[in-house]
Amino acid sequence: MPVQTRQPRTQMLIGGEWIEAGGRSTFPTYDPATGKVLAELVEATPEDVDAAVRAATEAFGAWADLLPAARARLLLRVADLVEQHADELARLETTDQGQPLAISGGFSVPMVVNQFRYHAGWATKLTGITVDVSVPDVDYRTRREPLGVCGLITPWNFPLMLLSFKLAPALATGNTVVIKPAEQTSLTTIRLAELCLEAGIPAGVVNVVTGGGTVGKALVDHRGVAKISFTGSTEVGREIGAAAGRALKRVSLELGGKAPSVVAADADIDAAVAGNLMGGLLNSGQVCAAYTRFYVARPRAEEFVDKLAAGAGSQVLGHGLDSSTQLGPLVSAEQVSQVDRYVQIGRDEGATLVTGGSPADGDGFFYRPTVFTDVTDSMRIAREEIFGPVLSVIPYEDEDELDLVARANDTEYGLAAVIWSGDVKVANRLARRIRAGSVYINMPPLLDAAAAWGGVKASGLGRENGWDAIEAFTEVKSIWTAL
Ligand code: NAD
Repeated sequence: MPVQTRQPRTQMLIGGEWIEAGGRSTFPTYDPATGKVLAELVEATPEDVDAAVRAATEAFGAWADLLPAARARLLLRVADLVEQHADELARLETTDQGQPLAISGGFSVPMVVNQFRYHAGWATKLTGITVDVSVPDVDYRTRREPLGVCGLITPWNFPLMLLSFKLAPALATGNTVVIKPAEQTSLTTIRLAELCLEAGIPAGVVNVVTGGGTVGKALVDHRGVAKISFTGSTEVGREIGAAAGRALKRVSLELGGKAPSVVAADADIDAAVAGNLMGGLLNSGQVCAAYTRFYVARPRAEEFVDKLAAGAGSQVLGHGLDSSTQLGPLVSAEQVSQVDRYVQIGRDEGATLVTGGSPADGDGFFYRPTVFTDVTDSMRIAREEIFGPVLSVIPYEDEDELDLVARANDTEYGLAAVIWSGDVKVANRLARRIRAGSVYINMPPLLDAAAAWGGVKASGLGRENGWDAIEAFTEVKSIWTAL
């Protein structure tokens, strides 16, 4: 299978210097479609994390003081460079993460470009207010200011795109950053940092330390870090939230999900099947907002299951660089084992397996798209995040909206939900009552740089994108002047 023509950069970036492994330990990153090692990366030491935070601290004053129009220009230059290198970045993402080129090139990289352009616009639009306070002889106003050094910790499922959700607003608002990408998929992060330098973003503003959870923890615990912006599992998010709480650091947490998809009796079933296949199998189900538990009105359940299973079963699995591929591999052998474990649990719990249910043959980390029906609310496959191509259909009898809402909400998560209905009033009533950060009506889960993204309950704290991201990377200062 063809791989990168350009050897990917693997060093860490600290204070504008590329840091080689030297005496440090290294770890491999794989092409998940072949199982072959792509490159060796550096495991950062606590001293590296400290050096990165110090470099970001030193760079902070000048970066925060840069004229907003100059910051905006630099972010626009990053966007232009990402666009110029779109094909290279997409191929690198596909090779390291597994997502088919149609996703990396058609969705992930264009989203990174949009994020930088969108947030470049905010750099010149940050405002405070003046307020007539009820205190005599004072002028009172507010300023919106950056936080300082922000630690950005990202997961492996959409490494480049999810980094841009954090990096673009953090930089636009005058913060400096230390990035810790997921150890499975660090290559595009390192390349984006290189493009930031090439765009003219000063040394020390963007730093990258690589390695596993201990490196992330060292960043979270560092006293010089003002904020942690984390995307990843709920389990790790809880730890980070607790540590940030103890240290009184700002924190944003984008965590796991178990999105319900309600398919009403009057829904357009073909549209629902197509949208749910996209929403459930995108990136082989390794999507936090993946539609995974389908509440389907009993009279339409058989038709829905047949069509969903036919669609899932006919997906072409292969290397993401191959243009005929519809579904790429899972990110790692561990992820294949985790998905397979859940499929076994589903069988043991009494769900009916309709299609899939096993790893696919070959060297890479592939899993066959899997559909279960006759799933019940209490089964673990209906409650726990699997993060793989496993779709669970839960037929429902009762048209009672409140009961349906209660069942959709009977989860610790609350990231996304979708309603498929021919009646826009019913759909909107359900959308209001379902507890989730984003609810989609008759559509797959889409994202936009201007649209708030985040979860409730165990799906996280805070929102990314749009004005919410600007608020998340700034503080309001009050300035009082005696007149
Ligand atoms: P993960 O929590 O295992 O790892 C995420 C990142 O945290 C990695 O960089 C990892 O090295 C680091 N990390 C691990 N332990 C740490 C610690 N103790 N302190 C600090 N950092 C630590 O998650 P993952 O397996 O990489 O990603 C999959 C998870 O991410 C899924 O649960 C998925 O739902 C979630 N996710 C959420 C969103 C969202 O927007 N809500 C988006 C994508 C993925």
